Amino acid sequence: MIKLLDKKLFRYLSVFLFLNSATLPINSSSALAAWAIKTNGFLELRTKSNTNLEAYFQKSNQIYGDRFWVDFPGELKNPRTIKGNGSIKEIRLGKPSKGKTRLVIEFKEGTYLNPLTWRMIGLDQNRWKIKLFNPKNSFKKIGEGLVENTRRNFRSNQNTNYKRKNNYDFLKLPEVKQNKFSVVIDPGHGGPDPGAIGIAGIRETDVVLDVSKMVRNLLSEKGVNALLTRKNEVDLDLAPRVSFANNMDADIFVSIHANASRGKRRDINGLETFYYRGWRGRLLAKRIQKQILRVSPGSPDRGVKQGRFYVIKNTRMPAVLVEIGFLTGRLDARRLEKTIHRKRLAYAIAKGILEYLDKLG
Ligand SMILES: [Zn+2]
Repeated sequence: MIKLLDKKLFRYLSVFLFLNSATLPINSSSALAAWAIKTNGFLELRTKSNTNLEAYFQKSNQIYGDRFWVDFPGELKNPRTIKGNGSIKEIRLGKPSKGKTRLVIEFKEGTYLNPLTWRMIGLDQNRWKIKLFNPKNSFKKIGEGLVENTRRNFRSNQNTNYKRKNNYDFLKLPEVKQNKFSVVIDPGHGGPDPGAIGIAGIRETDVVLDVSKMVRNLLSEKGVNALLTRKNEVDLDLAPRVSFANNMDADIFVSIHANASRGKRRDINGLETFYYRGWRGRLLAKRIQKQILRVSPGSPDRGVKQGRFYVIKNTRMPAVLVEIGFLTGRLDARRLEKTIHRKRLAYAIAKGILEYLDKLG
């Protein structure tokens, strides 16, 4: 029954995968080690390391209420149902097919959900979280097992480079005052102007539009009025980008670009952020530069600099131009072609922006 229903209507969520999937042998035990739905509406999961998760959402129908489920490799021993409370009707753990485990969360009728904004975030090699709902009246935590890593594990992991490289916990975005700020994000180039062309034909216009959209979404989720100067491949001059931001009376303006080196030298990589004037612009540039470097280990810090670029010179609010790497550089290009790296950069840019707004708002 479930299988038939599963074939239609569901939506694949953007699941934030930090690690390569490791396929477990079909008869191995479930990769799901512990789970909890916390009082703040977050679902937290602990899995075996390097587990590949798939998450789905399906709107209610005659048989079920709204459902969110996650599939894990490895077979569950004891299928079971756990009674919910508040917005949660019940939680079911089952095996949808041989060698799989499914965790289903069914919501009560009338719960407001916005699955389009849901993001599964990997906290480290084996922990995940996703915000599912805003508990209005008191919701009591439901769960099985310990979702937090034990202290011992945490310590031993911290001593290795591997841990340092893969722990993106620091990308947790800060909270800012809701509906107070407006930010204009400007994806560089577009239409007949592709910007820089890098290794294997990777185009600046595509990369920066993708990253810009992710930044816009992340800021929107935090209650910031975030707008893009362009949403698709259009030819957009520099003057309208500036007047858009000025007319909006935006609080800040962030133009996103990727670099190319003269002679397309593959050994030149790095990140840099420009501002034109003022300590505010400089502070914003510093915040963003610091964050983007953290998600680009090994890529040189080319610094925060003053630059006379048209879009940051003529906008009236604090404005920066971010160069997120060299499309012609071996290290940067290999990363910039990957969605996962673009997501990390988007988180980093959003974090820099939110930190700035939090400090000056
Ligand atoms: Zn550019």
